[in-house]
Parts: sequence; C-alpha cells; structure tokens
Amino acid sequence: MSESIGILGSGLIGRSWAMLFAGAGYKVRLFDIEPKQVESALKEIASQINELEKTKLLRGSKSAKEQIALISGASSLQECVAGALLVQECTPEVLEIKLKALRDLDAVVQSPTIISSSTSTHMPSVLSKDLRNKERFIVSHPVNPPYYVKLVELVPAPYTESWVPIKVRSIMEEVGQVPVSLKKEVPGFSLNRIQYAILNEAWRQVEDGVLDVADVDKVMSEGLGPRYAFLGALETAHLNAEGMLNYCDRYAPTINSVSHSMGPIPLMQGETAKSVHEQLCESIPIEKLQERRQWRDTCLTKLSILKKEV
Ligand code: NAD
Repeated sequence: MSESIGILGSGLIGRSWAMLFAGAGYKVRLFDIEPKQVESALKEIASQINELEKTKLLRGSKSAKEQIALISGASSLQECVAGALLVQECTPEVLEIKLKALRDLDAVVQSPTIISSSTSTHMPSVLSKDLRNKERFIVSHPVNPPYYVKLVELVPAPYTESWVPIKVRSIMEEVGQVPVSLKKEVPGFSLNRIQYAILNEAWRQVEDGVLDVADVDKVMSEGLGPRYAFLGALETAHLNAEGMLNYCDRYAPTINSVSHSMGPIPLMQGETAKSVHEQLCESIPIEKLQERRQWRDTCLTKLSILKKEV
C-alpha cells in the first residue's frame, strides 16, 4: 500500500502539491474548512491531470487515471492526517489563520508525521514555537506554478529534529522537485532575499532616472534572466573568468565600489510607485493581467521542457 500525504487547504498551492505527490504515487487526502473548495479542487485537479496527459506533460510514471484515483477529499482533519508521512499546510498567508490551522492540526497529528508549511513569508519558529509536535515542523516553500518551477526551499526551525529536513528533501526529490536546504531560518528565506535585492536595484534605477520601467525589465528578461534560467549567480561568475578566485581578483574591487554607490533601500511608495504602475499599465492594463499570467505560465512550461532536454 502506498504511503499517504495530507494536504491542508485546497486552494491554488494545495491543488498543485496534490498533483505532484500523486505523480510520485502517494495517496493524497485533501482537507479544507470550506468543503466546497475540496469538491472544486478534485474536479479541477482531474481535468488538469487529463489535459497534462493529452499534451504529454504529465509528470510521474502513472497514467492520468491512476494519479486521479490516488487523490481524494477528507471530510475531517483527523481523516486527512491519519497515518500520513507528511502533512502539507496550504492555508492563506495570514498569520492568525495559519496559527489556528496549525494548532488544530497539532491536536490530531501523531508521530512520526511531518508537518510541512507552504508559507512564503512566515518564519518557521513563528509558526511552530507553541506546537506540541514542533520538532517535526519544517517550511517547504514552493514557487508558483510548482508543476513547472521546481524549486522548493526547505527551512527548519531551530528545534526541528535533524532527520526531518533530510527526509523532506528526499520526498521532494522523489516527486521531481528541486529542494534547497537552508541551514537556518532567515527572513525571506533565500529566494525572496535575492528577489528583493533585484527589485530594490530595479526600483532605484527608475527612481534615479537611469532607465524607464520597460528597459529596466529588459535587463532581466533579455540579459540576466536567460542565463539565470540555467546557471546561478556564483557559477556564472566562475565561468566568466578562469574560475572564481580569478573572478574575485579581477572584479571584486569594482563590484564592491559599485555596490557602495547603490544607495538606501527604497520604500516603494509615492510618486515613483505611481509612475512605475502607470508605465506597467501602458503595456499590461489591469484587465489584461490574467491573459499575461497565462502567457507567463505557457513560457515557463516550454522552458521546463527545454530544461529537461539540455
Ligand atoms: P488560497 O487562498 O488559494 O487557498 C487557501 C485555502 O485554504 C482555501 O481553500 C481556504 O478555504 C483554505 N483554508 C483556510 N483556512 C483553513 C484551515 N484552517 N484548514 C484548512 N483549510 C483552510 O492560497 P494559496 O495561494 O494556495 O496559498 C497557500 C499557501 O501557499 C500560502 O501560505 C502561500 O503563501 C503559499 N504560497 C503561495 C504561492 C502562490 O503563488 N499562490 C506560492 C508559494 C507559496
């Protein structure tokens, strides 16, 4: 009999996790405080899995029918977590909602079930410090859309037992995601810290009148982005000289002096915020956002196919 995974919250991310775990052959039980959400999640998941099979993008070795059969709704939290290898918490990113959901989960979960949260912003210790089962708590933060963007940040709390990150990393690898294991919790984890550094500098360049919005975004989409789809910043540097030490000899003083000229962290408010918004709306009006998101997801799907080939 295959092992089971409980999913708490069947919105966008809960649905994605359900598909990923079923793809690897796990039985998945979805629970939501809104029973209607589970109903609509099961329907949408089945239709997405069937579509993925048709377009040959279905992950895992099981057929669409087999994967759909592995996913079911749970009518109670107890049923969702009973005997589960791991419970993935996917409730809204509102601290009070998450704390309440985790308290309820903590009351019914039994050792050795792992409690894993999808939170994008809350520190693991903030979410879990009062839990009875806190030593088996970890954050597993996915990137949207998880089916095509494979990174998962694994962030333990200071008291998380050492076997937990190791076990979760192996589960994530088994489902075909790409986990990175933070050795300690830091605000923003890794991805958002790097993303914020980029966002801050793009903002400064617009605020200082260096580039307009469309051009500063091209620096990423036509310059750094294509490279970074395959290599990280450090490997890029290693390849851009005769190895990293040579790169440091050649470029470290310049990088240091340019970095000192970057100025304070922007507040992202006021006139610049208005101007950035207006410039973005000229090419993507608010009513076209959904269309543009679909285009982005199509691009990411094609990129994930290319990454499998190279
Ligand atoms: P969502 O709003 O789409 O879904 C949340 C679901 O949780 C809803 O169906 C709601 O009914 C349910 N819920 C609320 N309280 C509950 C409870 N106590 N027990 C069970 N279910 C409950 O949210 P989402 O976008 O799927 O995000 C879920 C989590 O994933 C958040 O922590 C978010 O930060 C994280 N995340 C989201 C993204 C993204 O791009 N959407 C990316 C990475 C991580």
